[in-house]
Amino acid sequence: MAFVSHLECARCGGHLPPGKVYNLCACGSPLLVRYDLRRAASTLRRDAMASRPANLWRYREVLPVERDSSILCLGEGFTPLLHARRLGRRLGMANLYLKDESFNPTGSFKARGLGVAISMAFELGIKRLAIPSAGNAAGALAAYAAKAGLPATIFMPEDTPLANRLECALLGAEVVLVPGSIKDCARVMRERMQGDDWFDVSTLREPYRLEGKKTMAYEVVEQLDGRVPDAMIYPTGGGTGLIGMWKAFEEMEALGWVGKRRPRMFSVQAQNCAPIVRAFAARSEHAEEWQNPQTIASGLRVPSAIGDFLMLRALRESGGAALAVSDDEMLAAVRELAETEGIVTSPEGGATLAALKRLVADGFLSGYETIVLFLTATGYKYQEALAALASPKGN
Ligand SMILES: *Cc1c(COP(=O)(O)O)cnc(C)c1O
Ligand SMILES: [Zn+2]
Repeated sequence: MAFVSHLECARCGGHLPPGKVYNLCACGSPLLVRYDLRRAASTLRRDAMASRPANLWRYREVLPVERDSSILCLGEGFTPLLHARRLGRRLGMANLYLKDESFNPTGSFKARGLGVAISMAFELGIKRLAIPSAGNAAGALAAYAAKAGLPATIFMPEDTPLANRLECALLGAEVVLVPGSIKDCARVMRERMQGDDWFDVSTLREPYRLEGKKTMAYEVVEQLDGRVPDAMIYPTGGGTGLIGMWKAFEEMEALGWVGKRRPRMFSVQAQNCAPIVRAFAARSEHAEEWQNPQTIASGLRVPSAIGDFLMLRALRESGGAALAVSDDEMLAAVRELAETEGIVTSPEGGATLAALKRLVADGFLSGYETIVLFLTATGYKYQEALAALASPKGN
């Protein structure tokens, strides 16, 4: 029942047939899933969504899985879009919204991508999974691998938060701790994993995680009753969310859900790991690797990304920008979100609020716009990083 027409290389434009196992295109670039959207539009109508399940599989026609029996669902997606009234009042913004991704299985939006990717891997008969992860992707992979009954090996930086290591162990994955960043984990993974009986689920090195992540944009449009927000602020690491949502707007236009207008997309990164910010400022098409990446926002500790050119393209085409904030600014913003809106978010989520303040101060945004901040994970998994906030206010 899938509507996939083909896969298309994001760089060379080559077409590949659906229903097969893929990593990158032969040219070394990510593959994008394309659908027969004319056919999908006849059933995937925005005004007929109310009876659909309250998870991301409600967008079944624009997801790649062929058979319903392949779907490994833990309830991922369809997270709340909260109107931030108190925080908005404090900032002078009447239309500020928070997409609270902490409601996802394993507490982060990584469950969207891995829920779809592991369902596809399961459907295509893959026997063994491996991933390098700075934290949240690891837990999400471990959960869906457990649900699928597939063995998973996870390569994590040795300073990954305890909660992430613990959940992987509980979920039955094999965990390999590696000194350095996710980049070093990827290298060790390729050295250690031998033979061709394993599948690499790294960001954008297989086409389906992007499909899961793009559903955030469908949800935002649905939850705003068909309106397209003016701006979206997204904490950016490997870029699947940003690239996926940009793709989703193109699909939604073809489906008749939205018109030509797009939100301005803003990427926020960490001050000491900001390859996309640097490349955006230099107007380059690619981002050079960031040396010695450091940040408490583990999801943002990504020194180089294979989808760099796609992120930079989306930021420019949307009239957005990329900016970096410090770890201290993230922490202050985590506290402010907690005190004003009752949400304990992760440093990555805090980064979006810190970025919003900067964008208003620098004149990129006036405050009158409809703005969505993506709070990508729960703060409860970041106890080491958030411990600095634990002392009572004023101490
Ligand atoms: C992975 C991650 C990010 C970055 O997401 P990408 O889509 O890979 O850019 C942001 N926040 C959190 C909490 C993450 O785990
Ligand atoms: Zn190609």
